Amino acid sequence: MEFKYCPFCKGDLKDISKHVKECEKCGERFYKNPVPAVAVVIFNENKEILLVKRGEDPKKGMWALPGGFMEVEEDVVDAAKRETEEETGLKIDKLKLLDIATEGSKRYTTVLLVAYYSKIFSGKLKPGDDSVDVKFFSYKNMPEIAFLSHKKFINKFLEIVRW
Ligand SMILES: [Zn+2]
Repeated sequence: MEFKYCPFCKGDLKDISKHVKECEKCGERFYKNPVPAVAVVIFNENKEILLVKRGEDPKKGMWALPGGFMEVEEDVVDAAKRETEEETGLKIDKLKLLDIATEGSKRYTTVLLVAYYSKIFSGKLKPGDDSVDVKFFSYKNMPEIAFLSHKKFINKFLEIVRW
């Protein structure tokens, strides 16, 4: 979202730099910041990783890690748990920090992603929300991954587990 006029005084905004605007009337500045999101590598004893098939654009029909955008007043780990449950039906626990990355986005310009991994889960696999399918894939036989950041997270995870 980008302001055309100052939301406080309706003054005109001028560009201070590429991503900063300033109100000519009240002097308030508006910064365009990355949007935080989460992604989770969920794995099992069979050396498989859980992926969801995206039901919405961007990258509709492609496979990705479970994840999504944080909500305000939400802890980042809780966001990872919530998004996982919404998209896969699984409740996860004992999340470990995997990595952090940024990725370009048409809608948000830049997304900042925090990735976790976990093999502690319960519940029944069931696609929900923005996902149309959800499945464990052998790490040796993964489909094309929708996002470069998710691909990097999976590679980083494979370095850690050394399967
Ligand atoms: Zn103003």
